[in-house]
Amino acid sequence: MAAAECPVCNWKIENGGNDVMVAGKTLTVCCDDCAQKLKADPDRYARRSQARD
Ligand SMILES: [Zn+2]
Repeated sequence: MAAAECPVCNWKIENGGNDVMVAGKTLTVCCDDCAQKLKADPDRYARRSQARD
């Protein structure tokens, strides 16, 4: 399984991370803290992960 990075803090995601649904897609962040930030400002973070599609 490829190592993923948290779109919020760019930390490597271990232990599966937290899945958060924003802007019609599911992003995986490293922790609950980042999940809160992602929900608070989804545009900012969702844009960073567009390269995956
Ligand atoms: Zn994070």
